[in-house]
Amino acid sequence: MEMYTKNYPFTNIADMMLSNPMGRAEHEPLFIDAHTGESITLFHLRRMVGSIHFGLNKLGLKKGDTVCLYSPNNHDIFDVQINMAPIYIGVMSAGMTISPANTSYVTSELQRQLEVSEAKILISHPNNLDTAFEAAAAAGLPRSNIFSVIHDPKKRVPIWSDILIDYNEPELSPIKLTHDESVNTTAYLCFSSGTTGNSKGVMTSHYNCIAMVQESNTFSGIFADPSVKKIIAGVIPLYHFSGIHRVFNVGIAQGATTIIVEKYSVTTVCEVIQRFKVTDLPSAPPIIIHLVNNPKVDKYNLSSLRTLTCGSAPIAPSVVTRFHEKFNHAALLQGYGMTEVSPAITYQLPSFARPDSVGRLVPMMKAKIVDENGNELGNNEAGELLVKGPNVMLGYKDDNESTANAIDKDNWLHTGDILKRDEEGNYYIVDRIKELIKYKGFQVAPVELESILMQCPYVADAGVIGVYDEAQGTELPLAFVVLPESYKSQSNSLPEKINIWVDKRVANHKRLRGGVRIIDEIPKNPAGKILRKNMKRIYEKQQKEL
Ligand code: AMP
Repeated sequence: MEMYTKNYPFTNIADMMLSNPMGRAEHEPLFIDAHTGESITLFHLRRMVGSIHFGLNKLGLKKGDTVCLYSPNNHDIFDVQINMAPIYIGVMSAGMTISPANTSYVTSELQRQLEVSEAKILISHPNNLDTAFEAAAAAGLPRSNIFSVIHDPKKRVPIWSDILIDYNEPELSPIKLTHDESVNTTAYLCFSSGTTGNSKGVMTSHYNCIAMVQESNTFSGIFADPSVKKIIAGVIPLYHFSGIHRVFNVGIAQGATTIIVEKYSVTTVCEVIQRFKVTDLPSAPPIIIHLVNNPKVDKYNLSSLRTLTCGSAPIAPSVVTRFHEKFNHAALLQGYGMTEVSPAITYQLPSFARPDSVGRLVPMMKAKIVDENGNELGNNEAGELLVKGPNVMLGYKDDNESTANAIDKDNWLHTGDILKRDEEGNYYIVDRIKELIKYKGFQVAPVELESILMQCPYVADAGVIGVYDEAQGTELPLAFVVLPESYKSQSNSLPEKINIWVDKRVANHKRLRGGVRIIDEIPKNPAGKILRKNMKRIYEKQQKEL
């Protein structure tokens, strides 16, 4: 295929990460835990990766098997606070797949990930073990295949380090993959709802990641100036591909030191920036809004900051402008992408960082903007963005139909986003046609919430949309519901009850924070498809009347 002609020097992403392309000193910290100050150097990382790689083999796992990790950014192994790096790289070094799960998942959500990923083992934080047990039992994963990432105080499962083996070789050789294997072997299996339906396993190959990192290095000019030492604040979650790419894949390959922060709060981030003289902050719109608006930020010295990347969800141009007025020493660079594209489609550099744009196309990609009939549009005309390139996923695991809907026969990936492009090649996001809500950068699939709502005794029919909240800088999921005849007399109290009922059944980011509104009928077309645009119009009309 035309887009796979380029040969990158690595075939296993683990090889790239451990190869120290920037020639950093082996004993410089790659990761520092913000809480304890403990660190991992490349020297440590190589040994840990070896212990994990061969420990997994000893446990009976083979190339192609999947390991699911269900843990926040930090945990103790070997008595030091470290992050997910050794586990991720150890798994990929052994030619296996790492499938990180969102830590706020409830049982049914984790069960789905275990089933789709066919994970052979599950490594969970002790705080998440009850959910892990229930999900594993429902997915048919034996309890003996569950491990804890740190010592479980209740001793319910063995600690993960029990399966590791001593590995003291100075060099590590991740298993070699041929070029074809690199193109076709899944390194990461993250979950995304794509353009429609429930969440699906996105197969991201070693080659996808290698291409993305190599090209990111080139376009950001990192190799042009090896004296630039990056210190990254790692606050965005490492189970989302945006975090994996910006904090992890790029961070390690560029020899950066990453300060791992377990839980985001604006003051924690500011303390970390001040204390560690952080230069780079991979972020999402809510973080930028806090930095701009929260008065506590002014108490900290943030002068070390050079670059903030911002993506995953829309940000208002006025916020970007205010950011630059307040922090004129730092560049806020927007990017746009999706899990299915490993994950960047467009990026900005300071020379073309317009507040209203998401930047220009990543160099290795091709793109076209098309109308509803698939006809290519010209500059400044808005239509669906189609892309292709070596960073486009292999497909959705065991779901040929969804894969064929996403990637057409000519290899164009249909993003489900409406964009336009100007004469200079800057892209602008106009709208989203796919069924997706983004709460603070996290995906919420309306159909998933609708099917949960349909199981609620107080709901006869339901439709879910995303509504934008200016103050928080994020979309919020909002449900319109039709009450069953028998409950119509209780319409005042039921929205709150329905909200609470849903809260117990979904991960934190999927809660109906936009509210529950009662309606006589959910707008649908004759085939029964929910007309979300009509629901949005109803919502806007109601807002005006408030
Ligand atoms: P995910 O796979 O979770 O990263 O979600 C991808 C989707 O998030 C894209 O298809 C867009 O709809 C949205 N998205 C990502 N980046 C941006 C951005 N910079 N501005 C607006 N929407 C974005």
